[in-house]
Amino acid sequence: MVAVGSALSRRGLIGGREGNLSCRLEDGVILVTPRGAYKGRMSGSDMVRCAPFQPPPPGASSEAKAHLEVYRRCPEVRALIHAHPPAVLALSALGRVPSPDILLEGKALVPRIELVPAITAGSSELADACGRAIQLAPAAILLEHGALCAGEDLWQALDRVEVLELLASIDLAGAGSVVPI
Ligand SMILES: [Zn+2]
Repeated sequence: MVAVGSALSRRGLIGGREGNLSCRLEDGVILVTPRGAYKGRMSGSDMVRCAPFQPPPPGASSEAKAHLEVYRRCPEVRALIHAHPPAVLALSALGRVPSPDILLEGKALVPRIELVPAITAGSSELADACGRAIQLAPAAILLEHGALCAGEDLWQALDRVEVLELLASIDLAGAGSVVPI
């Protein structure tokens, strides 16, 4: 989580304290990044332990509710990243989402991309919508907010965030295959 948080920060896929990460441990505990942490400078002991069927402790990320909802609904998901990828946000503000079909990596990693409407951050409604989206697809674009990507581990979730951003960048450059929202 420390290494992936640092990669997200270094690559500009989140601003300093933005975004959140989580992973499911073998014993079923969910580790979530702490609320308001600078993701490029975390340490392992900062992570907050959450039980999937209990409300997250107050020190956990403000979006911990959404992470737990996804883990409850999707037993195969072992890691989640919520990021604010700039090209994805720019494209969705223009009313478009990237098509995975323009890149081999897109088709392999994010064959389906779900859309989550603009819903208040940290709300139960957003958590519910994220849970439903990740049941249908490994990646979701949260309108006016960012992206949520799942994986069998954090590196696969990071691959998905990165390919979403790449697809959106290609589309913004005028070379994509646009899918209107
Ligand atoms: Zn966010």
